Amino acid sequence: MNTTSSERMNISQCRACDSTNLVLYLPLGDQALANRFLRPEDVNQPEPKFPLEVFYCGDCFHSQLGYTVPPEVMFREYLYVSSTSDAIPVHFAEYAKEMYERFMQPGDMVVEIASNDGCLLKGFRPYDVKILGVEPALNIAKIAREQGIETVSEFFTKELVHNTLIPKYGHAKAVISNNVFAHVNNIADFTDAGRELLADDGVWAIESPHILTMLKNNEFDTVYHEHISYLSLYALTPFFKRHGLNMFDVKPTAVHGGSNRMYLCKDLNKPMSEGLHKLLQEEIDYGINKPETYTVFHQRVEKVKESLMKLLRDLKAQGKTICGYGASAKGQTLVQYFGIGTDILEYIADKSPLKQDRLSPGMHIPVVSPDKIKRSPTDYMLLLAWNFGDEIMRQQEEYKNRGGKFILPIPNPRIIE
Ligand SMILES: [Zn+2]
Repeated sequence: MNTTSSERMNISQCRACDSTNLVLYLPLGDQALANRFLRPEDVNQPEPKFPLEVFYCGDCFHSQLGYTVPPEVMFREYLYVSSTSDAIPVHFAEYAKEMYERFMQPGDMVVEIASNDGCLLKGFRPYDVKILGVEPALNIAKIAREQGIETVSEFFTKELVHNTLIPKYGHAKAVISNNVFAHVNNIADFTDAGRELLADDGVWAIESPHILTMLKNNEFDTVYHEHISYLSLYALTPFFKRHGLNMFDVKPTAVHGGSNRMYLCKDLNKPMSEGLHKLLQEEIDYGINKPETYTVFHQRVEKVKESLMKLLRDLKAQGKTICGYGASAKGQTLVQYFGIGTDILEYIADKSPLKQDRLSPGMHIPVVSPDKIKRSPTDYMLLLAWNFGDEIMRQQEEYKNRGGKFILPIPNPRIIE
Protein backbone atom coordinates (compact mmCIF):
# COMPACT_ATOMS: atom_id res chain seq x y z
CA MET A 1 0.00 0.00 0.00
CA ASN A 2 2.57 2.61 -1.01
CA THR A 3 0.88 5.97 -1.19
CA THR A 4 1.34 8.53 -3.93
CA SER A 5 2.24 12.14 -3.28
CA SER A 6 -1.37 13.29 -3.62
CA GLU A 7 -2.20 11.08 -0.62
CA ARG A 8 0.52 12.29 1.70
CA MET A 9 -2.03 13.73 4.12
CA ASN A 10 -5.33 12.26 5.20
CA ILE A 11 -6.28 14.98 7.64
CA SER A 12 -7.21 18.51 6.63
CA GLN A 13 -7.62 20.10 10.06
CA CYS A 14 -5.61 20.40 13.25
CA ARG A 15 -6.65 17.69 15.70
CA ALA A 16 -6.63 20.14 18.59
CA CYS A 17 -8.26 23.32 17.22
CA ASP A 18 -9.69 22.43 13.75
CA SER A 19 -7.52 25.04 11.99
CA THR A 20 -6.57 24.19 8.38
CA ASN A 21 -3.24 26.02 8.77
CA LEU A 22 -0.94 22.96 9.03
CA VAL A 23 2.76 23.42 8.25
CA LEU A 24 5.09 20.49 7.43
CA TYR A 25 8.38 20.60 9.35
CA LEU A 26 9.74 17.06 9.60
CA PRO A 27 9.38 14.92 6.44
CA LEU A 28 10.65 11.41 7.23
CA GLY A 29 9.44 9.83 3.98
CA ASP A 30 7.40 6.65 3.61
CA GLN A 31 8.06 4.12 6.35
CA ALA A 32 6.86 0.67 7.34
CA LEU A 33 5.09 0.52 10.71
CA ALA A 34 7.73 0.66 13.45
CA ASN A 35 6.20 -2.19 15.47
CA ARG A 36 5.44 -4.47 12.54
CA PHE A 37 8.29 -6.98 12.82
CA LEU A 38 8.12 -9.61 10.09
CA ARG A 39 8.27 -13.36 10.36
CA PRO A 40 11.05 -14.61 8.05
CA GLU A 41 8.51 -16.50 5.94
CA ASP A 42 6.59 -13.26 5.27
CA VAL A 43 9.56 -11.29 4.00
CA ASN A 44 8.47 -11.51 0.36
CA GLN A 45 4.91 -10.36 1.10
CA PRO A 46 4.12 -6.72 0.27
CA GLU A 47 4.99 -4.53 3.24
CA PRO A 48 2.70 -1.53 3.72
CA LYS A 49 4.46 1.83 3.97
CA PHE A 50 2.83 5.10 4.92
CA PRO A 51 3.97 8.76 4.94
CA LEU A 52 5.68 9.79 8.18
CA GLU A 53 5.54 13.59 8.28
CA VAL A 54 5.13 15.97 11.20
CA PHE A 55 3.24 19.26 10.94
CA TYR A 56 2.67 22.06 13.41
CA CYS A 57 -0.57 23.97 13.50
CA GLY A 58 0.02 27.61 12.59
CA ASP A 59 -2.74 28.65 15.00
CA CYS A 60 -2.45 26.57 18.21
CA PHE A 61 1.03 25.05 17.51
CA HIS A 62 -0.07 21.49 18.22
CA SER A 63 2.43 19.14 16.49
CA GLN A 64 0.96 16.14 14.71
CA LEU A 65 1.28 13.67 11.84
CA GLY A 66 -0.47 14.55 8.60
CA TYR A 67 -1.25 10.93 7.82
CA THR A 68 -3.12 8.60 10.17
CA VAL A 69 -2.78 4.86 9.70
CA PRO A 70 -6.07 3.18 10.72
CA PRO A 71 -5.71 1.98 14.33
CA GLU A 72 -7.00 -1.50 13.51
CA VAL A 73 -3.98 -1.87 11.20
CA MET A 74 -1.59 -0.71 13.94
CA PHE A 75 -2.74 -1.97 17.30
CA ARG A 76 -4.42 -5.33 17.05
CA GLU A 77 -1.19 -7.34 17.02
CA TYR A 78 0.90 -5.04 19.10
CA LEU A 79 4.30 -6.49 19.96
CA TYR A 80 5.40 -4.05 22.62
CA VAL A 81 5.09 -5.49 26.10
CA SER A 82 6.00 -2.82 28.61
CA SER A 83 7.63 -5.00 31.28
CA THR A 84 10.73 -5.79 29.20
CA SER A 85 12.81 -2.90 30.55
CA ASP A 86 14.19 -3.12 34.09
CA ALA A 87 13.55 0.58 34.76
CA ILE A 88 9.84 0.64 33.87
CA PRO A 89 8.27 -1.47 36.69
CA VAL A 90 9.98 0.70 39.33
CA HIS A 91 8.68 3.82 37.60
CA PHE A 92 5.17 2.32 37.55
CA ALA A 93 5.22 1.37 41.25
CA GLU A 94 6.09 4.97 42.14
CA TYR A 95 3.45 6.25 39.73
CA ALA A 96 0.73 4.11 41.40
CA LYS A 97 1.85 5.16 44.89
CA GLU A 98 1.70 8.82 43.97
CA MET A 99 -1.75 8.55 42.37
CA TYR A 100 -3.13 6.66 45.35
CA GLU A 101 -1.66 8.91 48.01
CA ARG A 102 -2.51 12.18 46.30
CA PHE A 103 -5.91 11.50 44.85
CA MET A 104 -7.54 8.24 46.03
CA GLN A 105 -9.30 6.67 49.04
CA PRO A 106 -9.86 2.99 49.86
CA GLY A 107 -12.63 1.56 47.66
CA ASP A 108 -12.09 4.00 44.76
CA MET A 109 -11.56 2.78 41.23
CA VAL A 110 -8.55 3.37 38.98
CA VAL A 111 -8.89 2.85 35.24
CA GLU A 112 -5.93 2.74 32.92
CA ILE A 113 -6.55 3.47 29.26
CA ALA A 114 -4.29 1.35 27.05
CA SER A 115 -3.19 -0.73 30.01
CA ASN A 116 -0.85 -2.96 28.02
CA ASP A 117 0.08 -6.12 29.98
CA GLY A 118 -1.16 -4.57 33.23
CA CYS A 119 2.34 -3.57 34.34
CA LEU A 120 1.32 -0.19 35.75
CA LEU A 121 -1.97 -1.39 37.24
CA LYS A 122 -0.11 -4.08 39.18
CA GLY A 123 1.46 -1.17 41.07
CA PHE A 124 -1.98 -0.49 42.61
CA ARG A 125 -2.25 -3.97 44.16
CA PRO A 126 -0.89 -2.91 47.58
CA TYR A 127 -3.80 -0.46 47.89
CA ASP A 128 -7.45 -1.20 48.58
CA VAL A 129 -8.78 0.02 45.20
CA LYS A 130 -10.68 -1.44 42.25
CA ILE A 131 -8.45 -1.91 39.22
CA LEU A 132 -9.59 -1.93 35.60
CA GLY A 133 -7.62 -1.94 32.37
CA VAL A 134 -8.77 -1.01 28.86
CA GLU A 135 -6.47 -2.45 26.19
CA PRO A 136 -7.38 -2.88 22.51
CA ALA A 137 -4.54 -5.26 21.56
CA LEU A 138 -6.17 -8.67 22.00
CA ASN A 139 -2.95 -10.62 22.57
CA ILE A 140 -1.62 -8.17 25.18
CA ALA A 141 -4.98 -7.87 27.01
CA LYS A 142 -4.93 -11.66 27.34
CA ILE A 143 -1.54 -11.54 29.07
CA ALA A 144 -2.93 -8.96 31.55
CA ARG A 145 -6.02 -11.09 32.30
CA GLU A 146 -3.85 -14.16 32.87
CA GLN A 147 -2.08 -12.15 35.56
CA GLY A 148 -5.36 -11.26 37.24
CA ILE A 149 -5.80 -7.71 35.92
CA GLU A 150 -9.42 -7.23 34.79
CA THR A 151 -9.16 -5.86 31.25
CA VAL A 152 -11.74 -4.71 28.70
CA SER A 153 -10.36 -5.35 25.23
CA GLU A 154 -11.70 -2.39 23.24
CA PHE A 155 -10.61 1.01 21.92
CA PHE A 156 -11.34 3.80 24.40
CA THR A 157 -14.19 5.90 22.98
CA LYS A 158 -17.14 7.90 24.28
CA GLU A 159 -19.35 5.03 23.17
CA LEU A 160 -17.38 2.47 25.20
CA VAL A 161 -17.46 4.68 28.31
CA HIS A 162 -21.17 5.38 27.95
CA ASN A 163 -22.43 1.92 26.98
CA THR A 164 -20.04 -0.39 28.83
CA LEU A 165 -17.65 1.12 31.37
CA ILE A 166 -20.00 3.38 33.39
CA PRO A 167 -22.98 0.95 33.46
CA LYS A 168 -20.76 -1.96 34.46
CA TYR A 169 -18.08 -0.37 36.65
CA GLY A 170 -19.19 3.20 37.51
CA HIS A 171 -17.05 6.37 37.49
CA ALA A 172 -13.32 6.39 38.15
CA LYS A 173 -11.59 8.40 40.83
CA ALA A 174 -8.35 8.10 38.95
CA VAL A 175 -7.87 7.66 35.23
CA ILE A 176 -4.42 7.02 33.87
CA SER A 177 -3.28 7.10 30.31
CA ASN A 178 0.36 6.45 29.91
CA ASN A 179 1.85 6.96 26.47
CA VAL A 180 -1.50 6.72 24.78
CA PHE A 181 -2.92 10.23 24.36
CA ALA A 182 -0.27 11.00 21.78
CA HIS A 183 -1.25 7.82 19.93
CA VAL A 184 -4.89 8.80 19.50
CA ASN A 185 -6.22 10.18 16.23
CA ASN A 186 -9.48 11.68 17.50
CA ILE A 187 -8.19 13.44 20.61
CA ALA A 188 -11.45 15.38 21.00
CA ASP A 189 -13.53 12.19 21.38
CA PHE A 190 -10.88 10.58 23.56
CA THR A 191 -10.79 13.61 25.87
CA ASP A 192 -14.58 13.76 26.11
CA ALA A 193 -14.63 10.03 26.91
CA GLY A 194 -12.06 10.44 29.69
CA ARG A 195 -13.97 13.38 31.14
CA GLU A 196 -17.18 11.35 31.20
CA LEU A 197 -15.51 8.38 32.91
CA LEU A 198 -13.99 10.60 35.59
CA ALA A 199 -15.82 11.13 38.90
CA ASP A 200 -16.59 14.81 39.61
CA ASP A 201 -13.72 14.94 42.11
CA GLY A 202 -11.52 12.58 40.07
CA VAL A 203 -8.11 13.20 38.51
CA TRP A 204 -6.88 12.12 35.10
CA ALA A 205 -3.13 11.69 34.72
CA ILE A 206 -1.79 11.73 31.18
CA GLU A 207 1.87 10.86 30.75
CA SER A 208 3.49 11.39 27.42
CA PRO A 209 6.81 12.45 25.90
CA HIS A 210 7.25 16.21 25.92
CA ILE A 211 7.80 17.88 22.56
CA LEU A 212 10.34 20.22 24.13
CA THR A 213 12.59 17.22 24.86
CA MET A 214 12.28 16.12 21.24
CA LEU A 215 13.04 19.59 19.88
CA LYS A 216 15.95 20.32 22.23
CA ASN A 217 17.71 16.93 21.94
CA ASN A 218 17.18 16.11 18.26
CA GLU A 219 14.93 13.21 19.28
CA PHE A 220 13.24 12.87 15.89
CA ASP A 221 13.07 9.10 16.55
CA THR A 222 10.11 9.63 18.89
CA VAL A 223 8.25 10.08 15.60
CA TYR A 224 6.52 6.95 14.30
CA HIS A 225 3.08 6.27 12.87
CA GLU A 226 1.52 5.29 16.18
CA HIS A 227 2.71 8.51 17.75
CA ILE A 228 0.26 10.93 16.17
CA SER A 229 0.65 14.01 18.41
CA TYR A 230 3.78 15.63 19.95
CA LEU A 231 2.56 17.26 23.11
CA SER A 232 3.12 20.77 24.41
CA LEU A 233 1.45 22.32 27.40
CA TYR A 234 1.10 25.44 25.23
CA ALA A 235 -1.33 23.70 22.83
CA LEU A 236 -2.97 21.34 25.31
CA THR A 237 -3.90 23.65 28.18
CA PRO A 238 -6.48 25.55 26.06
CA PHE A 239 -7.50 22.34 24.26
CA PHE A 240 -8.45 20.62 27.53
CA LYS A 241 -10.28 23.77 28.74
CA ARG A 242 -12.43 23.65 25.61
CA HIS A 243 -13.32 20.06 26.60
CA GLY A 244 -14.22 20.91 30.20
CA LEU A 245 -10.97 19.77 31.79
CA ASN A 246 -8.48 21.84 33.73
CA MET A 247 -4.79 20.99 33.61
CA PHE A 248 -3.79 22.03 37.12
CA ASP A 249 -0.39 20.41 37.52
CA VAL A 250 2.43 18.75 35.62
CA LYS A 251 5.34 16.59 36.68
CA PRO A 252 8.34 15.99 34.42
CA THR A 253 9.53 12.35 34.42
CA ALA A 254 12.64 10.80 32.92
CA VAL A 255 10.85 8.05 30.96
CA HIS A 256 11.28 7.93 27.16
CA GLY A 257 14.04 10.50 27.30
CA GLY A 258 11.79 13.12 28.96
CA SER A 259 8.04 12.98 29.52
CA ASN A 260 5.41 15.02 31.30
CA ARG A 261 2.72 13.69 33.56
CA MET A 262 -0.18 16.12 33.22
CA TYR A 263 -2.95 16.18 35.83
CA LEU A 264 -6.49 17.14 34.81
CA CYS A 265 -9.63 17.72 36.85
CA LYS A 266 -13.17 18.85 36.14
CA ASP A 267 -12.97 21.92 38.39
CA LEU A 268 -12.16 24.68 35.90
CA ASN A 269 -11.36 27.14 38.69
CA LYS A 270 -8.61 25.11 40.36
CA PRO A 271 -5.46 27.25 40.04
CA MET A 272 -2.47 26.11 37.97
CA SER A 273 0.52 24.91 39.98
CA GLU A 274 3.71 26.90 39.95
CA GLY A 275 5.45 24.01 38.17
CA LEU A 276 2.94 24.14 35.33
CA HIS A 277 3.33 27.91 34.97
CA LYS A 278 7.08 27.50 34.86
CA LEU A 279 7.08 24.75 32.23
CA LEU A 280 4.60 26.63 30.06
CA GLN A 281 6.88 29.66 30.19
CA GLU A 282 9.86 27.44 29.33
CA GLU A 283 8.05 26.29 26.18
CA ILE A 284 7.32 29.88 25.17
CA ASP A 285 10.91 30.93 25.88
CA TYR A 286 12.13 28.06 23.69
CA GLY A 287 9.94 29.32 20.83
CA ILE A 288 7.19 26.69 20.78
CA ASN A 289 4.96 29.21 18.97
CA LYS A 290 7.62 30.35 16.46
CA PRO A 291 8.02 28.77 13.00
CA GLU A 292 11.86 29.16 13.08
CA THR A 293 12.05 26.71 15.99
CA TYR A 294 10.78 23.95 13.72
CA THR A 295 12.99 24.87 10.75
CA VAL A 296 16.09 24.77 12.95
CA PHE A 297 15.03 21.41 14.45
CA HIS A 298 14.73 19.88 10.98
CA GLN A 299 18.19 21.17 10.05
CA ARG A 300 19.70 19.60 13.17
CA VAL A 301 18.05 16.23 12.42
CA GLU A 302 19.61 16.27 8.94
CA LYS A 303 22.99 16.91 10.56
CA VAL A 304 22.57 13.90 12.89
CA LYS A 305 21.76 11.78 9.84
CA GLU A 306 24.83 12.99 7.94
CA SER A 307 27.25 12.49 10.80
CA LEU A 308 25.93 9.09 11.97
CA MET A 309 25.95 7.69 8.44
CA LYS A 310 29.49 8.96 7.90
CA LEU A 311 30.60 7.34 11.17
CA LEU A 312 28.96 3.98 10.34
CA ARG A 313 30.28 3.93 6.76
CA ASP A 314 33.79 4.81 7.91
CA LEU A 315 33.70 1.94 10.42
CA LYS A 316 32.48 -0.51 7.76
CA ALA A 317 35.23 0.70 5.41
CA GLN A 318 37.74 -0.18 8.17
CA GLY A 319 36.28 -3.71 8.26
CA LYS A 320 34.53 -3.25 11.61
CA THR A 321 31.36 -5.12 12.54
CA ILE A 322 28.34 -3.37 14.05
CA CYS A 323 25.15 -4.58 15.67
CA GLY A 324 22.15 -2.64 16.95
CA TYR A 325 20.62 -2.90 20.42
CA GLY A 326 16.92 -2.32 21.04
CA ALA A 327 14.12 -3.18 18.63
CA SER A 328 11.94 -0.39 20.00
CA ALA A 329 9.77 1.69 17.69
CA LYS A 330 12.12 4.66 17.94
CA GLY A 331 15.00 2.61 16.63
CA GLN A 332 13.01 1.60 13.59
CA THR A 333 12.33 5.22 12.66
CA LEU A 334 16.03 6.01 12.83
CA VAL A 335 17.06 2.88 10.93
CA GLN A 336 14.48 3.42 8.19
CA TYR A 337 14.92 7.17 7.78
CA PHE A 338 18.71 6.89 7.66
CA GLY A 339 18.53 3.81 5.38
CA ILE A 340 20.59 1.55 7.68
CA GLY A 341 20.37 -1.98 6.29
CA THR A 342 22.00 -5.37 6.77
CA ASP A 343 25.06 -4.00 4.93
CA ILE A 344 25.72 -2.01 8.13
CA LEU A 345 24.03 -3.85 11.04
CA GLU A 346 24.59 -7.60 11.41
CA TYR A 347 21.62 -7.92 13.73
CA ILE A 348 19.54 -6.06 16.31
CA ALA A 349 19.56 -7.57 19.81
CA ASP A 350 16.42 -7.24 21.91
CA LYS A 351 15.23 -8.83 25.15
CA SER A 352 11.60 -9.19 24.03
CA PRO A 353 10.96 -12.80 22.94
CA LEU A 354 8.02 -11.50 20.86
CA LYS A 355 10.43 -9.69 18.56
CA GLN A 356 13.24 -12.22 18.44
CA ASP A 357 13.64 -14.31 15.28
CA ARG A 358 11.75 -11.68 13.33
CA LEU A 359 12.99 -9.07 10.84
CA SER A 360 12.89 -5.34 11.46
CA PRO A 361 10.23 -3.38 9.54
CA GLY A 362 11.36 -1.79 6.27
CA MET A 363 15.06 -2.66 6.51
CA HIS A 364 14.63 -6.38 7.40
CA ILE A 365 17.48 -6.61 9.89
CA PRO A 366 17.30 -9.86 11.93
CA VAL A 367 16.21 -9.38 15.55
CA VAL A 368 17.93 -11.77 17.94
CA SER A 369 18.25 -12.48 21.65
CA PRO A 370 21.02 -10.51 23.45
CA ASP A 371 22.71 -13.92 23.98
CA LYS A 372 23.94 -13.56 20.42
CA ILE A 373 26.20 -10.70 21.56
CA LYS A 374 28.10 -13.22 23.70
CA ARG A 375 28.32 -15.79 20.90
CA SER A 376 29.22 -13.42 18.06
CA PRO A 377 30.19 -10.03 19.43
CA THR A 378 30.61 -7.12 17.05
CA ASP A 379 33.20 -4.35 17.35
CA TYR A 380 30.53 -1.67 17.77
CA MET A 381 27.00 -1.60 19.14
CA LEU A 382 24.59 1.10 17.94
CA LEU A 383 22.27 1.89 20.84
CA LEU A 384 18.95 2.28 19.05
CA ALA A 385 17.20 2.25 22.44
CA TRP A 386 19.57 5.03 23.56
CA ASN A 387 17.00 6.16 26.15
CA PHE A 388 17.89 2.98 28.06
CA GLY A 389 21.58 3.43 27.14
CA ASP A 390 22.94 3.40 30.69
CA GLU A 391 21.01 0.25 31.55
CA ILE A 392 22.14 -1.55 28.37
CA MET A 393 25.78 -0.57 28.83
CA ARG A 394 25.66 -1.84 32.43
CA GLN A 395 24.23 -5.15 31.24
CA GLN A 396 26.85 -5.44 28.50
CA GLU A 397 29.84 -5.43 30.85
CA GLU A 398 31.23 -8.60 29.26
CA TYR A 399 30.96 -7.12 25.75
CA LYS A 400 32.72 -3.99 26.97
CA ASN A 401 35.49 -5.96 28.69
CA ARG A 402 36.17 -7.71 25.41
CA GLY A 403 36.81 -4.32 23.82
CA GLY A 404 33.33 -3.74 22.40
CA LYS A 405 32.39 -0.09 21.87
CA PHE A 406 29.02 1.65 21.92
CA ILE A 407 27.59 4.27 19.59
CA LEU A 408 25.00 6.69 20.93
CA PRO A 409 23.11 8.25 18.00
CA ILE A 410 21.16 10.97 19.83
CA PRO A 411 21.42 13.95 20.47
CA ASN A 412 24.61 13.86 18.41
CA PRO A 413 26.36 10.66 17.34
CA ARG A 414 29.30 9.70 19.52
CA ILE A 415 31.36 6.64 20.39
CA ILE A 416 31.59 5.45 24.00
CA GLU A 417 34.60 3.25 24.69
ZN1 LIG B 1 -4.42 23.82 16.04
